[in-house]
Amino acid sequence: MGRIHVLPEHIANKIAAGEVVERPASVVKELLENSLDAGSRHIRLQLEAGGKKLIRISDDGCGMVRDDALLAFERHATSKIRNAEDLTNVATLGFRGEALPSIASVSRLRLDTRVQDEDSGTTVEIAGGKILRVEEAGLPPGTSITVRDLFFNTPARRKFLKSESTELSHIASLVTHYALAHPETHFELHSTTNAILVAPPVGHLRARVYQVFGKDVLEQLIPISAELPLARAGLPAPPPWKRTKQESDGTTTSPGSLRLDGFVSKPEVQKLNRGSIYTFVNSRLVRDRSIQHALSEAYRNVIPPTVFPVVLLFLHMPHAEVDVNVHPSKTEIRFRQQAVVHDFIRDAVRSTMVKARPVPGFVGEIRARPTATPALAVHQPTAGAFDTAQSIPGFLLELGSPASTSFHFIDQIQVKAGSTNVSPQILTPPATATAQIAAACDTALAEDSVSESAASLATLKPLGQLRDSFILAVNQDALWIIDQHVAHERILFEKVLRQRAEQRVESQRLLMPILIELNPAQQAVLRDISEELEKNGFEVEPFGARSIAVKVAPSELEASELEHILHELLEQFCRQEQALNLEQVRRQIAASIACHAAIKVNMTLEASKMEWLLRELAKTDCPMACPHGRPVVLRYSMKEIQKAFKRI
Ligand code: ADP
Ligand code: MG
Repeated sequence: MGRIHVLPEHIANKIAAGEVVERPASVVKELLENSLDAGSRHIRLQLEAGGKKLIRISDDGCGMVRDDALLAFERHATSKIRNAEDLTNVATLGFRGEALPSIASVSRLRLDTRVQDEDSGTTVEIAGGKILRVEEAGLPPGTSITVRDLFFNTPARRKFLKSESTELSHIASLVTHYALAHPETHFELHSTTNAILVAPPVGHLRARVYQVFGKDVLEQLIPISAELPLARAGLPAPPPWKRTKQESDGTTTSPGSLRLDGFVSKPEVQKLNRGSIYTFVNSRLVRDRSIQHALSEAYRNVIPPTVFPVVLLFLHMPHAEVDVNVHPSKTEIRFRQQAVVHDFIRDAVRSTMVKARPVPGFVGEIRARPTATPALAVHQPTAGAFDTAQSIPGFLLELGSPASTSFHFIDQIQVKAGSTNVSPQILTPPATATAQIAAACDTALAEDSVSESAASLATLKPLGQLRDSFILAVNQDALWIIDQHVAHERILFEKVLRQRAEQRVESQRLLMPILIELNPAQQAVLRDISEELEKNGFEVEPFGARSIAVKVAPSELEASELEHILHELLEQFCRQEQALNLEQVRRQIAASIACHAAIKVNMTLEASKMEWLLRELAKTDCPMACPHGRPVVLRYSMKEIQKAFKRI
């Protein structure tokens, strides 16, 4: 007799649950995605004990008829795809038909659902995968799913759950970011005691960011918007019947293009991990290595390599260009043309930064100190209890990165909407209050000052130096401090890159070749980069077994610096773990030359030299950060000065 048998359905579901349902946040993710797929405009979540005891999600989506309400709990039962071809063109968040049966197999679940044009709805109760009750019921249109006692029948799983506040924070982070992806939808998240998030519908992403994170965060961000027609990217345009799709978030993907919207942070915002990077592809929250790589490329030479920006990106592309069927949790994807997407994102973020050229103010600089754990303020919905804060690790922690992220929730908006007495009632805003809140939010946005750009550098008048190191300068509306070394470094860095690109590097022959000893690892790296060094004006020849002779060098550099700079460069490349890519090598060489050739600190400068430096700095693409990512200028606005002197 054979030993192999097919597992019964309820065991298969439990196995699937192992992949799909890891913790309360993964249940919330699946249920939220279902509500969004159902076209909901109003989604309310209620939690108890960080979702361990209860998760209830109620939506006003399309609902289900009785037969569907039962079928939904069968494995691989879905309304979202029909055949294998559909799988290559998934336009919904769900498509595997696994979530509901998986969740129902490890919890006590109740479904209440009604479609709009039927008089009554259906209630289904299931525990540990067994259907207990199916009844007709008078219900509002839409769907409500209640999940109690998650993992009650899988104690091993339950043991691995973290504290209530940790689970809650994962859910808060997740819901927040889905709310960002769908500004047109009303989102609410409540715990037993708190309204964690109440976000009425707004007209655009910027307003939603303001609602969710507040003004301070919004001020640290630069909006990004870019489009690349597929024909230009060398990709086939989709067939006519698949063009101009209305996305679930209300935007449309124009015929055959890649589109990028969202926000990226100014260089002075520096996080210690990737926890504040959120990327959505066709409104799906994803974690993708090539996008992350594109972002670090974009921020190279703008922020230090050890820190990370805050990023909120929404990439829209034809559904056929992205494979979402990579992993059961659907957070991993595969681009069919990975390099095209990578370069598009990198270039869009880079040019956005170059265009905006934001300058950090003094306050910004203080705020920008890298902090490990900004906190989620979970506010008590009672007057005077606004200081209850819990630490919140970001959602991506769940996806495998050591993350933490910062949140500011929107109690202040509710206060603006006409009441200083924040009572639990206004946390479920009636329609009029909702409109008021949205209006308050829009007004606040309109008042928002346009971020100061570096264009005004050209109008500066230098006053003198502080300790022969920092240039003090003024214009009509601000006092500026410029770090003379890093300012010159930025100027030279861009000059070297430009000359290299145009193949007109200036170099000089040394009177006497300079001999430099190298260890074997350095020699190996030298072989890899010697061609690029040559194109940057170095002529280097082997000299004996362990040495090289430098005969020609870039004219910016003093001969006495050469040994140091070459050792430094080779060491950098030796330490690098990934394979060297040409662009990176070019940028590192340019950064090294710039650093060694730049005006030092503790150096007296003539007024004319200072003027020259400021003029040249104004011409650079990225005058706000040195090639190693340090700030170049600080701006103290007239307003800040007047405030400090209590004149306003
Ligand atoms: P999938 O989302 O992959 O299709 P699920 O197991 O998550 O699989 O859901 C099964 C089906 O149940 C969905 O295809 C959908 O038709 C229906 N469904 C689930 N949640 C909702 C909801 N909130 N509103 C309407 N229909 C829903
Ligand atoms: Mg689903």
